[in-house]
Amino acid sequence: MTKNSHPSLAATDPELAALVGAEERLQAETLRLIPSENYVSQAVLEAAGTVLQNKYSEGYPGRRYYEGQQNIDQVELLAIARAKALFGVEHANVQPYSGSPANLAVYLAFAEPGDTVMGMALPMGGHLTHGWGVSATGKWFRGVQYGVRQDTGLIDFDEVRELALKERPKLIFCGGTALPRTIDFAAFAEIAREAGAVLVADVAHIAGLIAGGAHPSPVPHADVISTTTHKTLRGPRGAMLMCREEHAKAIDKAVFPGLQGGPHNQTTAAMAVALLEASQPSFRTYAHAVVANAQALAEALLARGFDLVSGGTDNHLILMDLTPKDVPGKIAAKALDRAGIVVNYNTVPYDPRKPFDPSGIRIGTPSLTSRGLGVEHMPAVADWIDRGVTAAGTGDEDALARIRAEVAALMADFPAPGLPTD
Ligand SMILES: *Cc1c(COP(=O)(O)O)cnc(C)c1O
Repeated sequence: MTKNSHPSLAATDPELAALVGAEERLQAETLRLIPSENYVSQAVLEAAGTVLQNKYSEGYPGRRYYEGQQNIDQVELLAIARAKALFGVEHANVQPYSGSPANLAVYLAFAEPGDTVMGMALPMGGHLTHGWGVSATGKWFRGVQYGVRQDTGLIDFDEVRELALKERPKLIFCGGTALPRTIDFAAFAEIAREAGAVLVADVAHIAGLIAGGAHPSPVPHADVISTTTHKTLRGPRGAMLMCREEHAKAIDKAVFPGLQGGPHNQTTAAMAVALLEASQPSFRTYAHAVVANAQALAEALLARGFDLVSGGTDNHLILMDLTPKDVPGKIAAKALDRAGIVVNYNTVPYDPRKPFDPSGIRIGTPSLTSRGLGVEHMPAVADWIDRGVTAAGTGDEDALARIRAEVAALMADFPAPGLPTD
């Protein structure tokens, strides 16, 4: 495997080619459960590696600051048209370099430094860029933060409303990075309207589920939709901002020239490919399978005595609180990594432990679904996690090695999109 998958790279830089080959093997042999990751198609990979990357194109199609845009304009227009059609939005900006700069552009479009903004607290499942203190968005703006209820693990809309009416934020962010439940965009929209705030739905994690009809769409409710393109949407690393026509100018001006220079045209191209793929019937099947797999996995974990935040999942993601197992999240995550199961340690709401050594692990099903695993495989996955967490607690390296071999054996039967085969 991988010997000749990148012949020019191997000839020019064998050292780097060896690292890429090793990563290809790692992604092939392991069970990748990080919910923000995925496997993009070979077509997306190829588009991202094209000569489009050689071109500078500051500005927007038909309004560039550089010449020679005959093809680049068409590429960006294609990506925009596909984004608009897929999500049913009036306007799409496909230039943000990634999710964090996309969110910064929203601040630039609608707020002034020092303004109050509101988002979910990072340790409750929100994102850094929703006004959390260590982020520029929390340093340059006054971030006020909501959370989830301790007893249910769910957002308390009375609390959100009370906070919004008291603080009158310019922006309200909904969405996050560790939210296992459906986001009630209509409830957020009602509160934003009452508070006179711009509602930003940050759907980075769930964009693919929305595109595939497996999560409600924020389009009727949110003023701005921010999303990465590389998580469940299964495209290149990048981001998009979508909105109604009334906000189009403000958003476009904020992205360029407000925040960025030249767009990454090779990424735009790969995004166009991913958006085309996401418009196919097979993508709907994938999106629904992601959720079915997550729910089957949650059920199998609950049956093994695990504690899941909010008691389960509606989407692609499961947040496990390992407190009852008496194994810290980081120790569990590192042991599972040795067992060929890749997860991340994560804070759980009201975590008594520190962010760098929290009580939970976060898992998700996009990657395994993209490889074709189904609900029938989820009991085995739960069993590996169970045995791995137990082995983490007892320091049983032999047990971890046995799991690793079992994982590799199953994964060999499910070739991953985009990875070289023998
Ligand atoms: C991943 C994520 C981002 C940031 O994306 P990057 O591309 O890592 O900068 C922003 N918001 C949410 C909710 C995310 O999950």
